[in-house]
Amino acid sequence: MSEYSPEPLNGLKRTDYCGDLRLKDAGRKVTLMGWVHRRRDLGGLIFIELRDRSGIVQCVFDQNVSNELFEKASVLRNEFTVAIIGQADQRKVPAKNADLATKDIEVNVEELHILNTCKPLPIQVSEEQVADEGLRMKYRYIDLRKPRMARNIALRHKITKSVRDYFDSKGFYEIETPILVASTPEGARDYLVPSRVNPGKFYALPQSPQLYKQMLMVSGLDRYFQIARCFRDEDLRADRQPEFTQIDVEMSFVERDDVLEMIEGLIHHLFTDTLGIEVPAKLQRMPYSEALEKYGSDKPDLRVDMVIQDVTETIGKTGFVILDNALEQGQKIKGFVVKGKGGSTRKEQDKYKDFGQNASLPGLFFIARHEGNVKSSLLKYLGEEKALTLCEKMGAEDGDLVVLAAGESRPLSVALGKVRLDIANSLNLLNPQEYKFLWVVDFPMYSWNEEENRLEAEHHPFTSPLPSDADKLESAPLEVRAAAYDLVLNGCELASGSVRIHQREMQERIFKGIGLSIEEAEAKFGFLLTAFGYGAPPHAGIALGLDRLTAIIAGETSIREVIAFPKNTNGIDLLSGAPVTVTDEQMKLVHLKYDLD
Ligand code: ASP
Repeated sequence: MSEYSPEPLNGLKRTDYCGDLRLKDAGRKVTLMGWVHRRRDLGGLIFIELRDRSGIVQCVFDQNVSNELFEKASVLRNEFTVAIIGQADQRKVPAKNADLATKDIEVNVEELHILNTCKPLPIQVSEEQVADEGLRMKYRYIDLRKPRMARNIALRHKITKSVRDYFDSKGFYEIETPILVASTPEGARDYLVPSRVNPGKFYALPQSPQLYKQMLMVSGLDRYFQIARCFRDEDLRADRQPEFTQIDVEMSFVERDDVLEMIEGLIHHLFTDTLGIEVPAKLQRMPYSEALEKYGSDKPDLRVDMVIQDVTETIGKTGFVILDNALEQGQKIKGFVVKGKGGSTRKEQDKYKDFGQNASLPGLFFIARHEGNVKSSLLKYLGEEKALTLCEKMGAEDGDLVVLAAGESRPLSVALGKVRLDIANSLNLLNPQEYKFLWVVDFPMYSWNEEENRLEAEHHPFTSPLPSDADKLESAPLEVRAAAYDLVLNGCELASGSVRIHQREMQERIFKGIGLSIEEAEAKFGFLLTAFGYGAPPHAGIALGLDRLTAIIAGETSIREVIAFPKNTNGIDLLSGAPVTVTDEQMKLVHLKYDLD
């Protein structure tokens, strides 16, 4: 460790952030403060890459200028905390990294203050090494020093600020809603907090501010938004966090399209005005049923075309047992076109078949148009003419590949939807820098919960049915469409919302539909039902996932990369150790006893 004891700041003031220096600063005297990112000792010259949250700049210590200073610099090690004063100059040897923002400049150091030393590091900052994620989380304060992570956090700030500015400009109030609440209705498990002063009673942490934002509309506050933390005690498979952030929005005296247009404005402000990424002012819309039919998903990734088409009629009876049997059972034959893959090898087609297997599609068939020929294992049944007609109908030209399968209509589309994405992925067709938005509208009102043998709200039970479908609420509930909408970006559900019910009578019908008796509904959501009796205005809203939005813009696949202090997939905060055991005394105070069996 250093022979220098750390020095005080002694009134030193920073003049610049490292990453902000440019050629125009040449000749200026600067004071920088930050961390030693890397150090290179070239005999009479020591180069330090100095880093702060804004970036990195090269600093030079020249033995010929000051031996004393040079000696002091020679004790520097990675992640020592320093202040330097020096002259910014045009860099003598061009930077190896041409993308480095400060590549044209270096600082010839005149004064060095070692503010702190640093022990050998458990994870490296200066190397984009694939460190164990557990270690990264345990030492998150070091991990966040990485330029990539600092950029992600800065981006998140920029996005949040842009969102706040936009809603402010549209007359929204940012209103905080409580964190200690009664249960909320998003359908996941609640996190519970025992009440010390009310023995035997618990708060829940909000799964979303849903009920409160609706009550704010009853209050006449008209336009609400909040950067809201939500808590859901779910299994953390995939890329979920027990606590996450939503951009939560509610508006009064509006209909569906008013909300969609408001959010289109937000997306345009954020992407185009703030981040300089061109996106259309109006975003495409598609009914849920069409999304499932054409893309096999309620969140289609439109970065690739590959639309699923029903070709049952065109193919008809062929004499090929598998397809004929499928037809007899009333199943469908569907498929899609992969552009430019008519010449795909056997190996590639086997890979596509594996994708089919993974999506529970045992039989995948191909028709390849290659150099004027048609090739297919189906050819002897279809005949060349029919095969060509099929290709023409599907839009498969010479050089293209048709992928086909048979099955029950909806599951077949869903499975082909997965295969479509796997193929697109394997061909690197999903460009992370392309942003394809889509509104999916007219979701079903209910879905069937097999386990509990009852209807459940597809979105949440405060969602209004489409007025045209309301008469089927009791007679054909699964056919009822809701005034619910999702905003999809590159195959991810970015936002969800709905026009709300604002009349008690309709609300009671929906509660009844999902099997809640009036008594249960009263006990759970009585305050909202009561509020509806006091002049609730028509209202609608939406919530956007801030973590996912930031991750997509940052080009990260995991939301953990854009959350300062995330939890691991077991819900553990490896930095603080939470959740932790508490003392018997603490348990007693909140009137709890363990029963860990
Ligand atoms: N509260 C809903 C959710 O968290 C969003 C909404 O309907 O505004 O999914």
